[in-house]
Amino acid sequence: EKSANMSNEQTFIAIKPDGVQRGLIGDIISRFEKRGYKLAAMKLVSPSKEHLEKHYEDLSDKPFYKGLVTYMLSGPICAMVWEGRDAVKTGRTLLGATNPLASAPGTIRGDYAIDVGRNVCHGSDAVESAKKEIDLWFSKDEVLQYKLAQHDWIY
Ligand code: ADP
Ligand code: MG
Repeated sequence: EKSANMSNEQTFIAIKPDGVQRGLIGDIISRFEKRGYKLAAMKLVSPSKEHLEKHYEDLSDKPFYKGLVTYMLSGPICAMVWEGRDAVKTGRTLLGATNPLASAPGTIRGDYAIDVGRNVCHGSDAVESAKKEIDLWFSKDEVLQYKLAQHDWIY
């Protein structure tokens, strides 16, 4: 059955301050759109230090944590929820490896970055963390449910 083969898995994707400043919002959105994912939520935000510390709380004992939070505070962030089959794992594939020097060309980081501390984008690393991150960044009414006509041609 066709609908059983579709997925409404959601992932949290963010364009970090360097990506916004470098004019990459349109390109990054376009990659997810063209692959067949559905945009479920989107906003341009400047979150508080506390918000960003919470977002990266699992990394709080890393030596780069303070610098990471400062980087994330350096300008607006484009926060998004993308939905579709295997969205979390495929989202990470579209982003590329954490260190852009290890990211394949054709990925976002592999095309636009060379420094791990300025790697343009964020994507949830697991379905569970995606749920946590979507809850942290969006209220329930900001995440929209709607039918995307082109899905009849994608699934
Ligand atoms: P990812 O963003 O690929 O999930 P992590 O969750 O491990 O990677 O790290 C979060 C972010 O912290 C990375 O995207 C990157 O911006 C930054 N970061 C990771 N490792 C380093 C490092 N060694 N030096 C500086 N920044 C780092
Ligand atoms: Mg991570």
